[in-house]
Amino acid sequence: MSGHRHLEGKVVIATHNQGKLREMRELMAPYGVALVSAGELGLPEPEENGHMFAENAAIKAVAAANASGLPALSDDSGICIDALDGAPGLFSANWAGPGKDFAPALARVQVELAKRGATTSDKRRAHFVSALVIAWPDGHQELFEGRVFGEIVHAPRGMAGFGYDPIFKPDGHERTFGEMSSQEKHGIDWGNREASLSHRARAFQLLASACLRKPA
Ligand code: IMP
Repeated sequence: MSGHRHLEGKVVIATHNQGKLREMRELMAPYGVALVSAGELGLPEPEENGHMFAENAAIKAVAAANASGLPALSDDSGICIDALDGAPGLFSANWAGPGKDFAPALARVQVELAKRGATTSDKRRAHFVSALVIAWPDGHQELFEGRVFGEIVHAPRGMAGFGYDPIFKPDGHERTFGEMSSQEKHGIDWGNREASLSHRARAFQLLASACLRKPA
């Protein structure tokens, strides 16, 4: 027995972020689970006042599970830039402001890196983190985390993806996430656990092995 709980029936995706929602729907697609988003259910966005990605993910999943009476899956994620002492980190969404406009956030990253003289690749190290939490209405929770390491490029490249994708180039690749299709960004190869690429896909692969079964 793994001790993990199997996820079945209808599941709420506890996010109001359209980019994340699309990726989570893509990742869940092979499992035949009925998905409904927090937005479709008209659920409010809870205040994310945790001090870690996992805490904020739990806040969102628990709020959605309690409000809907269904198991809820949330993602709390962000980009941590070494030369900026881990910023924007938990505040990755806030850097885009209330209008959720990422152009100023991407420009701010470049300004902050320039202030610190971070011109060469070795000074532009960064990683994305994703904490996925499933919360059930009876209080049971499961947590899975994924990370992907890489560097911040000098100017945004590519229109695919969302958020900070155009300025992040994962190690071992020449293109930014913004230049990759979502299939490439997920990098999922179900025969090879090590193959998934993005932070979200890595966390999801752990979740899938623990809590999901592919339909026969
Ligand atoms: P939150 O988890 O909803 O608080 O916000 C996470 C923020 O991190 C998003 O709004 C994006 O700005 C950023 N982020 C998280 N995952 C990704 C990703 O896969 N690509 C680009 N940006 C991301």
